[in-house]
Parts: sequence; structure tokens; C-alpha cells
Amino acid sequence: MTSISVPLLDLKAQHVTIRDEVMTLLTQVVEEQSFILGPMVGRLECEVAGLSKTRYAIGCANGTDALLIAMRALGIGRDDEVVTTPFTFFATAGTIHNVGATPVFADIDPLTFNLDPAAAAAAVTSRTKAVIPVDLFGQMAPIEQFRGALGALPIIEDAAQSIGARRGVDGFETMAGQEATIGTYSFFPSKNLGGYGDGGMIVTQDEALFTTMMKLRTHGSMKTYYHEIVGYNSRLDALQAAVLLAKLPHLEQWSAARRANAAFYDQALSDVADVVTPYIDPANTSIYNQYTVRAQKRDALQAHLKKHDIGCSIYYPLPLHLQPCFAYLGYKEGQFPESERAAHEVLSLPVFPELTIAQRDAVVDAVRSFYGR
Ligand SMILES: *Cc1c(COP(=O)(O)O)cnc(C)c1O
Repeated sequence: MTSISVPLLDLKAQHVTIRDEVMTLLTQVVEEQSFILGPMVGRLECEVAGLSKTRYAIGCANGTDALLIAMRALGIGRDDEVVTTPFTFFATAGTIHNVGATPVFADIDPLTFNLDPAAAAAAVTSRTKAVIPVDLFGQMAPIEQFRGALGALPIIEDAAQSIGARRGVDGFETMAGQEATIGTYSFFPSKNLGGYGDGGMIVTQDEALFTTMMKLRTHGSMKTYYHEIVGYNSRLDALQAAVLLAKLPHLEQWSAARRANAAFYDQALSDVADVVTPYIDPANTSIYNQYTVRAQKRDALQAHLKKHDIGCSIYYPLPLHLQPCFAYLGYKEGQFPESERAAHEVLSLPVFPELTIAQRDAVVDAVRSFYGR
């Protein structure tokens, strides 16, 4: 068996390929000494709006604040409910709590791991003010099905893991974030478009929401020192915008490399009975933020891979309805069986674009050797 170590993600391998482009733009910000908003942030907002096919994009401090600002712009607060998935990163539901509203969970589609539109619609009550589908692991939730099932109810698409993901239905192509009432992205370093620190962005087609969110980003004011609403200090740092501007032209090619790695694993693991490779809805083009398999022997497989220096991780080990901080919501184990089953079975393998052939082979060899193949 090949014995090389493979990290789950290798940011240094990416940095060496773009070092000069990043340093040039970073230096420009430093020379200009324009650290707060300014031209770099404006340029990145234009680029991301173009990629997402949205009219507006607003840089903010991180993907969590993007969700928070989206909900505040929709007027969501006390006595309101927001429906979402329990199988996601914590921020999706944490922000619902933090605007004063109640997170209401609905189960996932076991194939894609994304929120099930019918289950979400069934969880809607007279108090529901929005639904947040998450484009998990890099593939879009079926936005047109959510729209169909929810009518005029606002949809916040948490696309933190899926910038540049696409979905084609009836000959019509949709980008992640494009068709939602508000779409949100994260530039956390481990996302497909990652900064050198925290960052986030919000997109929308709606001018009124855009104006409100611009205010919310800077303490609720458009005119300095005059505050129409109470907002936040949640700006995208100009240094981060510079890094992201240097990286953005490479995003499509990186996503294609992730898809090629995924296709390799799909093939190389197809005869391993216990390993269920990711299901991508035929309408979707995934950007594979994670390559996530299911395995009944997940815990032992993970221990085996760790022992052989193969990076792997469980996203996510405990569904949000069972988190201690949400005990007050009164959910019980067994209530969302697909989310709970996923939490027991999932394991994400290295899929980053700079993986070498030898590293890919080492991942496959390690998985196969665990099953004695
Ligand atoms: C990363 C992530 C977030 C939060 O983004 P931050 O930039 O880390 O605040 C929200 N939702 C999902 C699904 C994520 O993966």
C-alpha cells in the first residue's frame, strides 16, 4: 500500500499557485491604505453578482452574518419561525435563534442530504417568515421545488458551501443564490472560494432588500452618523476582498478539478459494497465542497484512515435538533430519522483541487484496504 499522508484540505498547495496574484492585490490595498470597504470590496461585489446572476451583492464579515443580515432585512424577529434543515453547519440555525426567532426543523432528502421541500412545506405555520434551504457539500437544493411548495414565502438560500454551483431544470440554468429571495455565501478559508480569514457575501435581485442590507452592514446608516435602523458592524475586509479577487478567476477551474477527483473516487470505490458514493441530482453541477460518502462501518473506517494518515472528517456528527443549546425547542431523538442516520454514516474524504494522482491513489488504497480489497 502507498504510504503518503493526505490532508483533508491543503491550503498551502493552493497558495503557491496564486502567490504573486494575491500578493499584488494585497500590496495595492496596503499602498492605498483603504482598509474599510473601498474599491476592492466594490470590485468583488460586482464580480460575485456577475457569477451569481444577481442584481446586487453585499460583502459582509462572514457567512454567519450574511444569514443574520438576511433575516433582519426580512423583518424576522421575536414570535417568528424559520424552517430549516437539522443537517447543516450550526450557523444556519444559530442565526435564527440570534434574531430572536424560533428554528423549526424538517428532515432531509437521504440522497442529496439537502432539506426536503415537501417536509419543509409541511413544517410551515402561520408564524413562518422564511425557509432556509442549504446547498450542502456543494450541490444546490432544488430551489424551483421550494418555490413551488412555498409560494410567496421568502427563501434564504444558504450557499456558504456552494458558490458557483449550478442547476439546470427545463433548459433553464440557475446559479446558487440566483433564484432565492436572498442568497448567502461564506469565504471561510475551507470554502471553495476561501479568504485568508473570515468573509461573507449576500446576494439578491430585490432593490429594497439590498438597500436595507447595505444599511444593516454599517450600523443601520446610509448617511454617516444618522441611523434609521439598528444594524451591525459587518463589513468585508478590503484585504480579504483583495485575496478573493485574485482567487475568483480560478474558481471554475478548481471546481472542475474537484469534480474530476470526485469522478475518480466514484469509479475507484464503486465495487466497495459498504461505501455509498455521493449522489448528485442529475440537474445539478456540484462544486464538491466536500466529497461525502456513507458507510455502515463509518467509525472504524475513519479510525483506519486516520491511522494511515488520510485526512477525513464527519460533517456533521450531531444534527442540530439534538444539540444541547436547542434542548429548549423540545425535539426528541428519532424525530428526523434521515438527518440522524446521515450523522451516523457520513465521512468526507479529501477532494481539494490540488490533490495529486499519488494522493488520490493513497486515499483509495486506504479505503479499499480497510475492506480487505
Ligand atoms: C461555513 C458555513 C456557514 C458560516 O459561514 P462563516 O463564514 O464561517 O460564518 C453557514 N452555513 C453553512 C452551511 C456553512 O457551511
